Amino acid sequence: MLPFKLVYSERYFLPIGEHVFRADKFRLVVDRLLQQAAIDRSDLIEPSPASEQDVMLVHSPHYLNKLMEGSLSAREELQMEIPYSPQAVEAFMLHAGGSILAAQHALQDGVCINVGGGFHHAFADHGEGFCMINDIAVAIRAMQKRGLIQRAMTLDCDVHQGNGTAAIFTKPAPGAPTLPSASPPTVAGGRGELLQGSCQDVFTISLHQENNYPFVKPPSSIDVNLPDGCSNEEYLAWLDNALSSGLRQFDPQLIVYVAGADPFREDQLGGLNLTIDGLKQRDELVFQAAHARGIPVMVTYAGGYAIHVEDTVAIHCNSVLAAAEVYR
Ligand SMILES: [Zn+2]
Repeated sequence: MLPFKLVYSERYFLPIGEHVFRADKFRLVVDRLLQQAAIDRSDLIEPSPASEQDVMLVHSPHYLNKLMEGSLSAREELQMEIPYSPQAVEAFMLHAGGSILAAQHALQDGVCINVGGGFHHAFADHGEGFCMINDIAVAIRAMQKRGLIQRAMTLDCDVHQGNGTAAIFTKPAPGAPTLPSASPPTVAGGRGELLQGSCQDVFTISLHQENNYPFVKPPSSIDVNLPDGCSNEEYLAWLDNALSSGLRQFDPQLIVYVAGADPFREDQLGGLNLTIDGLKQRDELVFQAAHARGIPVMVTYAGGYAIHVEDTVAIHCNSVLAAAEVYR
């Protein structure tokens, strides 16, 4: 039995047909963990869909209406890059409910993993890049609304920049003071850059491949623009650097870790050069840093489009194993 919970539902399956996003990956992750006896059925908890009130803590009523009524324009559906259906809306509402439940359990147990979610390309008023509802932002706002936390940090390690999350949280209020900018640190090799933005009650960090979608990147509190072909060593040095820098400036009561599997060297939509082992070290680094400081972590899965789906599944399973090692 794990010292924390996994949030999962069979209804996480996304009805999007043949797609580079393997909609069955969530089930494959849970099946593999059960087969390996790495987890027990009693470690799994079932979420309920997010309420419309919770979703509207982040998304505009106008956008939510369009989702509920099925009145997105052809252009809006194209931008989402997945086919619209009422069943797809239900699935995204459930992933968002899963992230809310996972955030609550992370606050109780120190860590909790949503075997789903991470839809970081959804903006307040539109969806894009396979993302309809930004479960990361909904979970944080729901925790704040319930008075469970005031301040949160997002740590987005998907290969694609967390544009929706950045746009939702990082826009400074008019006249609000911004954090002092740090001079860009350098790491071995000197490739890549760290950009320092502003922050209010949610500090956003994104490590991503610079030459990749989204081509317009709204500023996060910290953006790390990684070069094509970035290695395990360079990546881990930048991650350590960005996370330490963020935690020097900001004192979060919850970290939402977006553990995308797509920085993998054989990802079809990524151009970094991380190995499965390097990605597990990434997970360990995040859990160790949070655990050492007593900051609860909620994990979401986001992308993962390896040529062989079993590699994506292995990377996501390793996030659970890494957490089990650190929190045991
Ligand atoms: Zn991605």
